[in-house]
Amino acid sequence: MKNYQCLKEIQADIQSGQISCKTLVLNYIEKIEENSGLNIFLEVFKDEALESAQKIDQKIKAGNAGKLAGMVISLKDNICYKGHKVSASSKIIEGFESLFSATVVERLIQEDAIIIGRTNCDEFAMGSSNENSAFGIVKNPISSNKVPGGSSGGSAASVAAGMCLASLGSDTGGSIRQPASFCGNIGLKPTYGRVSRHGLIAYASSFDQIGTFANSIEDTAALLEIMSGPDEYDSTLSQKKPNSYTDDIVQEVSSKKIAYLSCYVNHEGLNPEVKEKTLAIIENLKQKGHQVDEINFDYLEQLVPAYYVLTTAEASSNLARYDGVHFGYRSPQAFDLLSTYVKSRSEGFGKEVKRRIMLGTYVLSAGYYDAYYSKAQKIRRLIKERTQEILKDYDFVLSPTTPHPAFDIGSQNEDPIKMYLEDIFTVQANLVGLPAISLPLGITKEKLPFGIQLMGSPFEEGKLLNFSQYLININ
Ligand code: GLN
Repeated sequence: MKNYQCLKEIQADIQSGQISCKTLVLNYIEKIEENSGLNIFLEVFKDEALESAQKIDQKIKAGNAGKLAGMVISLKDNICYKGHKVSASSKIIEGFESLFSATVVERLIQEDAIIIGRTNCDEFAMGSSNENSAFGIVKNPISSNKVPGGSSGGSAASVAAGMCLASLGSDTGGSIRQPASFCGNIGLKPTYGRVSRHGLIAYASSFDQIGTFANSIEDTAALLEIMSGPDEYDSTLSQKKPNSYTDDIVQEVSSKKIAYLSCYVNHEGLNPEVKEKTLAIIENLKQKGHQVDEINFDYLEQLVPAYYVLTTAEASSNLARYDGVHFGYRSPQAFDLLSTYVKSRSEGFGKEVKRRIMLGTYVLSAGYYDAYYSKAQKIRRLIKERTQEILKDYDFVLSPTTPHPAFDIGSQNEDPIKMYLEDIFTVQANLVGLPAISLPLGITKEKLPFGIQLMGSPFEEGKLLNFSQYLININ
């Protein structure tokens, strides 16, 4: 099969009779089975995907197929799909079946997207390497001794390995952009409040957003267009009508003002090849007539700590529902209420999730609330104000997505602080709620991809996507 990079190509080949949805799905399944050692999929919805494909083939013939006919996507294992298992890659809800579909899933299916399966991720979306899954690590398809990034590692890897055309993931602190950077695809985290979180298993509710992995900006725009917009099941959603994002990609761009944060680009942990490429892109933009300025940002040191205080606090509350009574795993050793809670949670959750629940409970506890949680909220406000100030003057903030390309499996997971610092460039967008995208513009001498990140103003995904296309074109 051709290695399809965008839906348009697929739809053209379907129209000319070169391929059908059914053959397409069969080919993807073959790819998944051939590479099962990468541990990307937790489950493949084989029969069902083939059945949908056949139905969509008929609709195409009848001329009444939806906009996404021919789009085969995978779902991160924390997005609900009615009648299908969802586990957040955790033993504690292993075997749980969704009672309803996430709004995004319903909207995509309505436009005839085919869901091919659910992908492995870090447990409850907590991690940067996919090594925290209860169902084994995911290997990076580009280099199998490397991590694919996390937490949506399986999603990024499924697209990179050509096992589907696109994937949905969630991004709380970088979980779409970082794996997109490590696997060489485009990862978009929309503005907080753009895409419904209904049906997304919560990690940190004031940060979480569902977003996309794809190989083209066009597909990214098409998916966003269909997923966005008001939904009565998510009260944090904006009532703003979404754009027709595909129409926003006009290729032409006027002269833009772009900021880059000196503390990001001069960060001591930044890999020299990543730095060199970032500076080359900046230079290229300047030569093309854009204004690109180095800007001060005083909160670099506070980004990751504020993120981890606030997200662990929210997680400790969100994960309280997994108590051995309401959902999933109950310890066979439990004999009364307290032992049901204690033993089920101790045995059901993995090490990193337990660490975060304890940290979160600690920062919210009576004696420490002001010192940690309140303080982190205040810092979040300062970060937000400063970032908004920058975006008042500039169209975009440009940076590397990650300090380096994919690292070796096993090289960092014994050091949580080191792992948390992986998120240094991505958490700002989540703390502020901004849209951000990782574009696969870099490649090291070792042939490992890495991403360049663009952050834009809230609800300006159209502008962000159009400029992203331009940046891809000129690089
Ligand atoms: N690596 C970050 C964390 O572990 C981001 C996770 C995410 O975005 N879901 O919290």
